[in-house]
Amino acid sequence: MPFSDLHLSDRLLEAVALAGYCEPTAIQAAAIPSILMGRDVIGVAQTGTGKTASFVLPMIDILAEGRARARMPRSLILEPTRELAAQVAENFAKYGRNHKLSMALLIGGVAFGDQDRALEKGVDVLIATPGRLLDQHQRGKVLLSGVDVLVIDEADRMLDMGFIPDVERICALLKPERQTLLFSATMPAPVKKLADRFMSNPRLVEVARPATANADISQRLLELDARDKRSTLKMLLRDPEVQTAIVFCNRKSTVRELAGELKRARFRAGQIHGDMEQADRIRELDRFKAGEINVLVASDVAARGLDIKGVSHVFNFDVPWHPDDYIHRIGRTGRAGATGTSITLATPEDAEAVAAIEKLTGATIPRLDEAHAAEAPSTGAAARRKRAADSRKTALERRTPGRYRAPEPARAASQDRADGEDDMPCGFGAEVPAFLQVSARR
Ligand code: AMP
Repeated sequence: MPFSDLHLSDRLLEAVALAGYCEPTAIQAAAIPSILMGRDVIGVAQTGTGKTASFVLPMIDILAEGRARARMPRSLILEPTRELAAQVAENFAKYGRNHKLSMALLIGGVAFGDQDRALEKGVDVLIATPGRLLDQHQRGKVLLSGVDVLVIDEADRMLDMGFIPDVERICALLKPERQTLLFSATMPAPVKKLADRFMSNPRLVEVARPATANADISQRLLELDARDKRSTLKMLLRDPEVQTAIVFCNRKSTVRELAGELKRARFRAGQIHGDMEQADRIRELDRFKAGEINVLVASDVAARGLDIKGVSHVFNFDVPWHPDDYIHRIGRTGRAGATGTSITLATPEDAEAVAAIEKLTGATIPRLDEAHAAEAPSTGAAARRKRAADSRKTALERRTPGRYRAPEPARAASQDRADGEDDMPCGFGAEVPAFLQVSARR
């Protein structure tokens, strides 16, 4: 179906064409006509499906008529994190290039002064995190009675972060005769309750089964001992197939330590986690997007919704505690139809968390060594790699009888090491053990 069938204005279609999109994605095709008709819509869609444009595009046309009044935004988009809020703002700027809509961001970590000035002028679109919006409302800087369209984005993430009471408070401040759009990757009971309470006869648009991992992501799980995690990660990162990678950790302290260690090991690595100042978070993201760094070590603050093109690999340095986070983390790769690879490092202590993920997704994550054995390549380089892998694996099994483990760090001198670390396997770079080579192909 072409975009022109969706009844969007010509000005908007031009901006969409300039963005390089040929066809609406499934969520866009399903949601946009209903939103343009003024209906409440619940969109169950995972990130990477084009869900942001599915509400931003129709909103631009809906808001094209009419004028904003001082301190009374005409529409409100609630986002769980500052990064997502900033990303939605970027989407408005991109698709609204032929419109004259005004926009303000109300997010923590940004000086009140700038936000006050933008609100004072009056905005068509206010994009906010719930806490900061309530602060500003209490300070009398923003009146919510003029909001005609409300978007609650990433509702399940709001739930995880404990924001649902704030969202409910905000909903109660809005006029009842508004249009409400709610997007969520999954629909846990409290989110459903929120929808029942604050939405009117919503149309449910579901483009993927909740908690289904994107089929374009090749997933692997590598079972290993905790003490081998760091050296194995470095080895995996040295695979030439890894162009850009996000490495997820469960704790902020691990993010800090690991990012430091990777930098010392000469990786172009950066970090992002919730304890960092907003400006530093944005700077690291920009460096990653610009290719200045190609490894971003992250806490779950970066797991949801962040749209960074061309992330070839996601590594779970830690198995996430919540199975939902697994879906969101690996969804940072394989975006908008591209293929990607995720590799999860799992220790024996992670067995329960892995089982929870597999239960949620309804699929077993292929074990990295098994996956390669199963490929059974028969010709050329693949066959050579397989033979080399088999002989290495046999050697490893001989050393660690009973159970195959990830390779131990080699102690031999490495020509290009200047960091003084001794846990980098020698000779890797172009040559990664074949059973650890994971291609972005499916
Ligand atoms: P989202 O799910 O909103 O985070 O979007 C994921 C990615 O899909 C973003 O990079 C968008 O620029 C891209 N995208 C959105 N709509 C389309 C489309 N119709 N065709 C191709 N890419 C799209």
